[in-house]
Amino acid sequence: KLHNELQELKGNIRVYCRIRPFLPGQKGKQSIVEYVGENGELIILNPSKQGKEGRRSFKFNKVYGPTTTQAEVYLDTQPLVQSVVDGYNVCIFAYGQTGSGKTYTMTGPDRSSEEDWGVNYRALNDLFRISRSRESSFTYEVSVQMVEIYNEQVRDLLSNDVSQKKYPSLYYHFLSTILVCFDLNLQQIHVSPLFLFCHTLGILSTTQGNGLTVPDASIRSVNSTSDVLELMDIGLKNRAKGSTALNDRSSRSHSVVSIHVRGTDVKSGSSLRGSLNLVDLAGSERIDRSEVTGDRLKEAQHINKSLSALGDVIFALAQKSAHVPYRNSKLTQVLQNSLGGQAKTLMYVQLNPDCSSYSESVSTLKFAERVS
Ligand code: ADP
Ligand code: MG
Repeated sequence: KLHNELQELKGNIRVYCRIRPFLPGQKGKQSIVEYVGENGELIILNPSKQGKEGRRSFKFNKVYGPTTTQAEVYLDTQPLVQSVVDGYNVCIFAYGQTGSGKTYTMTGPDRSSEEDWGVNYRALNDLFRISRSRESSFTYEVSVQMVEIYNEQVRDLLSNDVSQKKYPSLYYHFLSTILVCFDLNLQQIHVSPLFLFCHTLGILSTTQGNGLTVPDASIRSVNSTSDVLELMDIGLKNRAKGSTALNDRSSRSHSVVSIHVRGTDVKSGSSLRGSLNLVDLAGSERIDRSEVTGDRLKEAQHINKSLSALGDVIFALAQKSAHVPYRNSKLTQVLQNSLGGQAKTLMYVQLNPDCSSYSESVSTLKFAERVS
């Protein structure tokens, strides 16, 4: 409780930095990380500069060194997840270059071992645990959406047919417009019941009232961890569909798992909604424009645009600025309801310790410093 309140005092944006360990093939490499302090301090070394000049220090809300476990990382995230059942909107991001451990933190390397579970599974597990513990006074409904944002387009990862984009509400609106025209042609003034029906369906599917900004993406109710595992598997499989062996699309798209929780007071019948968005961002590495062309260049430009739009939104929120530029990218539009206002934001800033990643790491840290 006290921990929660202390966090509250610091405002609604937190930045936690995580340095991944060297991978088995990287033994004996030199790390850029010189020091990791309990108080969130981090010192990194520029491999090409000696002495004081090469040292640079950063400070965040927390820093996790390479031996930190998934469970330890989750422990500090847990209060945020728990606040979702009290009606808060929470957004958790993983930011960093490709290979820095974003997916490891959010999803984990292997879902078959609970110890390896990332934030996604642990958070859902927690939500179920809390809802069971409050069973006598509250009933909770938990539902999940999964989308991918690639080249400024949103793709539903839980749709049965992912190859096709489905926009049911547009479809109903279209149908109702045709019906109105049809009625006008017949010079009838009355509104046909069929029009009303289609129009209502269209409205219903765009305003489901649960804070969804992607109303057309499939939404699935979940009651247990095994439901979640099953759904995530579908989502991850669909996400991989756009990739080929040479072309791992997952590093160039953002994935968003949205969890919606509705709690109803058993006695009074009043209800409360909270949401949790878990975002595995596209790799933040800068692409050399002289080296890529065509699709790769387009992807790089889209990623660049959306990550800087995200930075601008979080920066504006941190500054308590009157204007928050949500509309500059699909990513910030999709997350609009869970960024700002009473919403809580956490960003995991992921670092690759290898000294060849020094300049990428510095730009990652600068991004994080700006929003924290
Ligand atoms: P990203 O999603 O940022 O591209 P990944 O999560 O795929 O990066 O991580 C790259 C590699 O590093 C993977 O093989 C992953 O299992 C490994 N890895 C990342 N973080 C850790 C960690 N904290 N402990 C052990 N291995 C890690
Ligand atoms: Mg990844």
